[in-house]
Amino acid sequence: MASAGEYPRHVSRALSTLIDEDAIGARVGELAAEISADYADVDELVLIGVLKGSFIFLADLSRRMTVPHRIEFIAVSSYGERESEDPGAVRLILDVRHDIGGRHVLVIEDIVDTGHTLAYLMRLLSARLPESLKSCTLIRKPDRAEVDVAIDYLGFDIPDVWVVGYGLDYAEKYRTLPRICALER
Ligand code: 5GP
Repeated sequence: MASAGEYPRHVSRALSTLIDEDAIGARVGELAAEISADYADVDELVLIGVLKGSFIFLADLSRRMTVPHRIEFIAVSSYGERESEDPGAVRLILDVRHDIGGRHVLVIEDIVDTGHTLAYLMRLLSARLPESLKSCTLIRKPDRAEVDVAIDYLGFDIPDVWVVGYGLDYAEKYRTLPRICALER
């Protein structure tokens, strides 16, 4: 058992708050209102959350949307852990369970860093001929962009730091922090 004054292990690295709970809540509300207005005439929007990092953002955003929608998940993992591999290559590890042909689709990402993941997903999904396909990301790191990929709804631009909290992890830790923090490298 931890004694007084001792740090729990999960906060052993220094964290500094970049975006607090109130700012996240306000921005998520604005995005939900904007998306709801844009899709007001659509029968059913398909939200595709990119696991794992988007799960909290998707939960909050979807509950504040006023248009009918369905929720799907997709998961990708990045190649590039071995030197020989293309650092921008992305692999699909979990696909959506329903056909998106002819549907209005909005991809919900946690963070766009180099842009390779979102570019891959937009290519993959557009080949399935949805009626419309747009993207929404909570965070973007503009200084890290390597590919040009359209982001239709954006929460926040941040500098080139590793962020955790609000669904985002470092080695599977910190996902449930209510705010977005920069982690000291
Ligand atoms: P991209 O393909 O745009 O370079 O990378 C996107 C993915 O990298 C994100 O979905 C996320 O998994 C991971 N990523 C990039 N930057 C960060 C960060 O600052 N924090 C966390 N937790 N994940 C990040």
